[in-house]
Amino acid sequence: MNRIAIYPGSFDPVTHGHLDIVRRAAGIFDSVIVAVTDPGGKKTLFPLRERVELFGKAVRGWPRVSVQSFKGLLVDYATEKKACAIVRGLRAVSDFEYEFQMALMNRHLSKRRGSSLETVYMMPDESYTYLSSSLVKEVARLKGDIDHFVPPAVCTALKKYIK
Ligand code: ADP
Repeated sequence: MNRIAIYPGSFDPVTHGHLDIVRRAAGIFDSVIVAVTDPGGKKTLFPLRERVELFGKAVRGWPRVSVQSFKGLLVDYATEKKACAIVRGLRAVSDFEYEFQMALMNRHLSKRRGSSLETVYMMPDESYTYLSSSLVKEVARLKGDIDHFVPPAVCTALKKYIK
């Protein structure tokens, strides 16, 4: 059985925290699809195409990991891809309430479609628990050092955008 997991998010931009989760997910699933999407109601710094490109560069050569974009309902996308699970990262208790709500909503929606989709939460290495895309953008905007938090291509792209 081919067990496919979807790791959805806005990834604006991808950080080492996201990559840590992909690495862990790739260790337990047969393949992982990173599904980049637009966050509901929020504006992103990077357009969708560039967020996909930057994530793609960061995982180039990683076996069984691919990066795609999607629009619409996650459960529909997961069904189309024949995925059995959604993977999300949990950094702190503050992530929990929203994630819990999302997981139950997705379970409800997938059940209505006659499929069963589980949400699997993974904890990153503790050195990434304080890391978020928005904090990285803020540090970059204030001309702080972001090299430790994001892959090199993201570092270059952020410096260009922030200028
Ligand atoms: P979204 O807009 O869907 O929350 P994000 O790009 O912010 O998209 O996050 C995508 C997923 O990655 C979420 O599950 C989030 O909790 C997780 N995540 C974000 N930053 C980190 C991190 N530093 N370590 C582990 N997981 C993270």
